[in-house]
Amino acid sequence: MLDGPVSPHLFSRSTLDGYTSGVWHASALLADRVKAVRQPYSGATVADLQEQVDAVDLDLPLGDTGAALHEVARLYLDNAVWFHEPTYVAHLNCPVAIPALSAEVLIAAVNSSVDTWDQSATATLIERRLIDWTAGRIGFGPGADGVFTSGGTQSNLQGLLLAREEALDGRDREADLPKLRIFATTQSHFSVSKSAGILGMTADAVVGVATDSTGRMDPVALAAAIDEVRRAGDRPMAVVATAGTTDLGRIDPVEAIAAICEDQGIWFHVDAAYGCGLLVSPRRRHLLDGIERADSVTVDFHKSFFQPVSCSAIVVRRGETLRRIAVHADYLNPRTATVPNQVDKSLQTTRRFDALKLWMTLRTMGSEQIGDMFDTVVDRAREIHGVIVADPDFEALAEPTLSTVLFRFRPDGMTVAECDDLMPRLRQRLFYGGQAIVAGTKIDGHYWLKFTLLNPNTTMVHLSEVLDLIRSTGQDMSSTRTETAVTV
Ligand SMILES: *Cc1c(COP(=O)(O)O)cnc(C)c1O
Repeated sequence: MLDGPVSPHLFSRSTLDGYTSGVWHASALLADRVKAVRQPYSGATVADLQEQVDAVDLDLPLGDTGAALHEVARLYLDNAVWFHEPTYVAHLNCPVAIPALSAEVLIAAVNSSVDTWDQSATATLIERRLIDWTAGRIGFGPGADGVFTSGGTQSNLQGLLLAREEALDGRDREADLPKLRIFATTQSHFSVSKSAGILGMTADAVVGVATDSTGRMDPVALAAAIDEVRRAGDRPMAVVATAGTTDLGRIDPVEAIAAICEDQGIWFHVDAAYGCGLLVSPRRRHLLDGIERADSVTVDFHKSFFQPVSCSAIVVRRGETLRRIAVHADYLNPRTATVPNQVDKSLQTTRRFDALKLWMTLRTMGSEQIGDMFDTVVDRAREIHGVIVADPDFEALAEPTLSTVLFRFRPDGMTVAECDDLMPRLRQRLFYGGQAIVAGTKIDGHYWLKFTLLNPNTTMVHLSEVLDLIRSTGQDMSSTRTETAVTV
């Protein structure tokens, strides 16, 4: 008699019935829940959810995938934050492309690791084709290279690591490291300063470059800052331009910054985590002009390419710069390797085959549809900005560049200080109401609400509903506050 599998729960040829039913059951359960979902959040409090999660005894298994799924449906799905709901307009989270979800099924079960050829085979070739494709969209020549990463944070870290290695090449590392400086604006992503810390740089290593009135890096100020650093005896290591700042969606003047970096021999990193959707935009690709002059570029497919998390990449113009971080481990990548190994290019070792999601999306939908959807949300941001400007109860901070809109509810008679106090509370009240989720941020010390639009299914009707909800909630909260003040 043939032995059965050790466990019915381990994926193998002899457990395929359990596998297909498990995956089918999960997707059916999800579809069933999503059918009923009408708002982005249930409104459950932290305490509610904490209690439910704590009540599970992890040492008492249910023994059956179906039972575990039902428990998870109650714990997780019933109170998930749904990015596909059109009134979720908070952070840079996108509704996801279905072809990418099919890819996830394969990625998870085959479980390839895109580090060495003998753990990945075609997966390595597919990832490399996509890096080449992305490099082509950026406008890099044939020498370009790159690797998929877990997100923009890791991509930025790697870009800056390469810049550091380039700057320290052939130098006295210990003496020079404390002198290295990175130039970025205050609107750049916090992962830039975080990276500087991880890279062993000093606390003042990131030099804040002044912006123009719209929040874009001022190239004249950049040139002056570089001069000043050199005069002080320190060394410029990299300039980080952001193509799509997280709050304002601004695109730093890439062309002018590239010229300065080329002239001064400074590594030029473009953080296009958000703005990378423009690479495939039928109408706005020109906003990224000059990006082909960068040394390294961060792209987050899980933001503006409608991919599930994680799906990101770092792409470099000169592929040989990636080799500076290669570390040899004889069991993984012998120096004599004659096969394509990705491990040399990545900060990770075992790494998911996330590239397959983008591949499936491009092969199913094509890049133009992706770009069209990104253009749609950018159009919508402009439109709703116009509505906000025309409404006396609201103020808008500035004209949007991409798909974020900063605004606040400040009707006649409300002071800026009262507004600064009310906005964060209003935002929280909305979240626990569950009907709409918006973000918030501080600009120059003042609190603003933020729409981040990445869902092309969010229409003007939805956005107007959210504005009305903010208005009624704001009116309610400011009148309650006055009454309380009177009774106290
Ligand atoms: C989101 C974002 C990042 C970080 O990317 P993650 O994928 O969240 O790690 C970096 N830079 C910018 C401009 C971003 O918007």
